[in-house]
Order: sequence, then structure tokens, then C-alpha cells
Amino acid sequence: MANSNLCTPTKHSSDNSISMVRVIARVRPFLPQDGSKESLPCISSLDSSGSEVTVHLKDPYSCRNENYKLDSFYGQEDKNVREIFEREVMPLIPAVVNGSNATVFAYGATGSGKTFIMQGNDEVAGVMPMATASILSMCEKMGGKSVEVSYYEIYNERCYDLLEVKAKEIAILDDKDGRPHLIGLSKIPISSMLDFQETLSCGLQRRKVASTGLNDVSSRSHGILVISVSNGHVIGKLNLIDLAGFLSLYAHLMNCIHTICEYNHCMLHIFILYMFPPGNEDNKKSGNEGVRLHESAKINQSLFALSQVIYALNNNTSRIPYRDSKLTRILQDSLGGTSHAVMVACLNPGEYEQSVRTVSLAARSRRVSNFVHSASKHTPKLQVDMEARLRTWLESKGKAKKQDPSTPRSVNRLNTIKTSGKRMPIHTLSEQRVKKVETETTPMCMRKVLYPINTNVNVNSPKQHSVAADDNTNTPLNKLKAMSCNLKSTLAQEYINFLNTAGKVELLQLKGIGEKMADYILELRDETPLKSLNDLEKIGLSSKQVAIMFGRTAKGLFD
Ligand code: ADP
Ligand code: MG
Repeated sequence: MANSNLCTPTKHSSDNSISMVRVIARVRPFLPQDGSKESLPCISSLDSSGSEVTVHLKDPYSCRNENYKLDSFYGQEDKNVREIFEREVMPLIPAVVNGSNATVFAYGATGSGKTFIMQGNDEVAGVMPMATASILSMCEKMGGKSVEVSYYEIYNERCYDLLEVKAKEIAILDDKDGRPHLIGLSKIPISSMLDFQETLSCGLQRRKVASTGLNDVSSRSHGILVISVSNGHVIGKLNLIDLAGFLSLYAHLMNCIHTICEYNHCMLHIFILYMFPPGNEDNKKSGNEGVRLHESAKINQSLFALSQVIYALNNNTSRIPYRDSKLTRILQDSLGGTSHAVMVACLNPGEYEQSVRTVSLAARSRRVSNFVHSASKHTPKLQVDMEARLRTWLESKGKAKKQDPSTPRSVNRLNTIKTSGKRMPIHTLSEQRVKKVETETTPMCMRKVLYPINTNVNVNSPKQHSVAADDNTNTPLNKLKAMSCNLKSTLAQEYINFLNTAGKVELLQLKGIGEKMADYILELRDETPLKSLNDLEKIGLSSKQVAIMFGRTAKGLFD
């Protein structure tokens, strides 16, 4: 059963803040293909207080477990989507019909039930048809309204119209008020469910899908259905989004390797035989042949950008990073402001690791801190605590002199850490980080130590193209070097994404990360997410230690 304490979406009882984006979890039932894992669901809800629910994840094969707070929880027993629709989506519809925007996302790993909840199947209606039916019937009662449908996908950070005969790329342009517009996107008028079904099935056929061993209809793009309601002047929009499934760090690495495969079969063969001797179970399980590096990096990056935007909205931060991905840029007018949204974290009951990753990112997006007035934003309690704890840790590692208890605790004198040979006041770290990101002025010495790993790698840059372009002129050795560099850069970026999203238990599984380090990473990223490996220096590591830590993780993947 769904959590009985569900109340109207958007209000959190724990404090006075309003949640712009409601974050809920939904566990799909076991399926025959889940095999022996059946009877052992790894996710349940523990308790609920007000409008919060504690989601408990337990690995049935070990003692590992984690708890996260979300807005609501729908367990395996909730077999049909109607209850979720009525409680979570229906409350958004009157506002849409009256000219506001709203968004519903299905988020989760491949095979977790995203498409099922959004589209449904022949027997069970999903959110898309149910929302359309409600909108049509409401408009009919009110009169004077027209309804149109658009359907597009974002694949590799490019937009394609799915209702054109030949899926065509769509450009995004901002109007004078900074609102994004999809230029030339088809809008099909509908007045009945038959019109809708015809339109949707046309679009679905055109949607790019790439099969994986885990789910043969898994989509590698974000599919966005937009139902627009107009009264001639004001237009309200409901965006219903079936997000692409994220890939785990391991699956991602496998994709990197397959990308190399596309460039050079022979070299890859040697590389794989060396790194992955035959019989590696994980390798077999992921089986993501054909899924390209570029594609998976874009998916993970845009999902992370989305979670950042939701976090910023729910926490009332001064800057919402809409521009960090195409999806969030397009949704700018439907996320924030007067719009409301629901994020459904879809979970497979037999996949503990995957579920922890999904729920931890969802919980992180949701977290609503007590409202902080902008004047006091830069002196939070967290930072004071961090300083004290960091100091104790550094002392225990012999990196800072023990504090004489009689000395008064002056922030300027005491709260310093050693970074690249210079002592740096901790209270200026945030500003320094901002400057670094803006000006890209990483000290040369740091670059040297970390070379050849590009710690500020931008996965947007078309690095693979440069490798391909050089193919004719490069020697095989140069090609291998370039590919390895590519692999390292992408892995570094994926490592950062992982540090920004993983739960504590997951962090502890990385080589080189212990209890305290995991705590510091969690606290540091809450303040500002890590952008590059260099940011790890903010918790007192030297650039060399960072490089070693990353190197151990990378190596660990091959053990
Ligand atoms: P995703 O889109 O996340 O990759 P799917 O929606 O394709 O996952 O779901 C994976 C499988 O699980 C499909 O076979 C789907 O029919 C099944 N499934 C998901 N949710 C349910 C449910 N509530 N009841 C029955 N089957 C479900
Ligand atoms: Mg799907």
C-alpha cells in the first residue's frame, strides 16, 4: 500500500518551506525474469511522519542497509499506476488547465519500471493516457479550451521531434525574456483519446531505442510528452518525461571499453584480455555492447544536472543551474516559479546497489534545508562544524599542529589547511572554488601531478571526434594513447558524478575512502557539488593523494 500519510503534494511538514518538486519512490513487482531474487525485496518503507516517509534499503545477501527520507513511497503491492496518478499527478492538472506548467519525471535504472509507469501497456494505463484523459474531460467541461500534444526526445544532448515523419533535430532559442523555445516543434491538436493514442504510437515508433542485455526495450534517450492547454491567450503545459536509465560506474567503464572497440578492434582485444580475463561475471551481466561512451556519459551527466536543479529549487538557492543540461534548460519554464513537479524514483526490488543509487540521488534532490536568508548564506552552521571536524582529522593525521586549548579560537588563525604547500583559510574555500570554476586557473603544479588525467574534464567536448579525426595520421601507439586518455577523462568525470551522488555505504566501497573521508565528501558536496578531482583538496588531501585515490579506484575496477 502507498504510504497512508500522503497529503496534498508540495508541502513538507518538517519545516516551513515549500517543496517545488515532490520526490517519491515506487517499487515495481518482481517479474519472472528476475529469477531467484523473487521473495527478497530490498526496499521497504519504515515509518512516516507528516508528509515524509523513511525508505529502507537492505541488501538481502549482506548486512548492508541504508535509510533515506522521501515524500512518499509506493511498494510492490501497488500494482497499478492509478493510485500514484490520483495522489501525485492529478493535483497538478487543474493548474495546467488554468495556464500553469507542471512536470512529472520517471527516473531510475534500466528495467526499473519508468516506461511502465509513464506509458503503461495494453492492460494497464500509464500516467500519459490518464493525464490526457483528465485534461480532455476537464477542458470539455470548461469549454473554450484546445489541447495539443508534442512529443520529442533528447538524445546525446540533442532534441528530436518525434511527431515529424522523419525525426528532425530541433533547435532551442531563448526569447527576449530568456524563455527557451523549441523552434518548429510539432503540435498536434487532439480532442479525443483516440487522437491521443494515434499520435503517441506514431511518436513511440520513432523513438530511438538501443537494446541492452538488461532490458530489450530500454531507451537511451529522454522521452518528453507535452500536453498543452490553451484558451487562446494563456497556455498551460504538462511535461511527462520518461528519463533515460542511468548507468553504473562499472557499466560505464564497460561502455568506454566498447567505444575503444569501435575504433580499434585489435588493440581492444588485447586490452580486454589483459584487463578482464574470461569469466568476469560483472562483465557478462552488464553486456552493454553497442552502447557508446558518449551516449552514456551524456545520460549520466544530464540526470545529475536535473538532480542539481531540483535540489536548488527545493532548497531555495539563489542560482538554479538550468543551463547545465539541455533537459533542464528546456524545462526552465516548467520547473520553478509557480510550476510544480513530481519526480518518481522507480526501483527494481531485486537490485540493491542500483536502488541505493536511485534513492540516494532522489533524496538528495529532495532535501529541504531550513530557509537561510541570503545574508547569512555563507556562514552556515555546517561550515563551523566542518572546520572543527576537519581540524581534528588533520591533527590526527599529523597534517596540522595540535591546537593549544588555551589559545582563543580565531577563525582566521586556526581554520587553515595545507594545500599545495600554502596555508589557506577554510572560510574562503567556497569563494576560491567559485573563482577556480569561473576562471579555470588551476595551479600548474597541480596539473603536473595529475597529468595525464584531466581532472576538469568536460564531457561535452567532442573528444572522441578528435580521436577519430586523427586516425589516419596517428600511429597505432598514438591512437592507443589518445584513447586511453579519453577513457581516463571520462572515468574521472564519472568518478566525480559518483562522489556527488553515492550514499555513504557506496562511498566506503571505493578504494582509499574511509569513514571520515566519506563524511567529509558528503558534507562538502552538500555545500557545493564537486566539479573536478581538484575539489577533493578542500577536504585536506594533497593533489598527489587525490591522484592516488582516483588511481586506486580505477585499478580496483580491474581487480
Ligand atoms: P524501464 O523503462 O525503467 O527500463 P520498464 O518500464 O520497461 O523499465 O519495466 C521493466 C519491466 O518491468 C517491463 O517488463 C514492465 O512491463 C515491468 N513492470 C514495471 N512495472 C510493473 C508493474 N507495476 N507491474 C507489472 N510489471 C511491471
Ligand atoms: Mg523504458
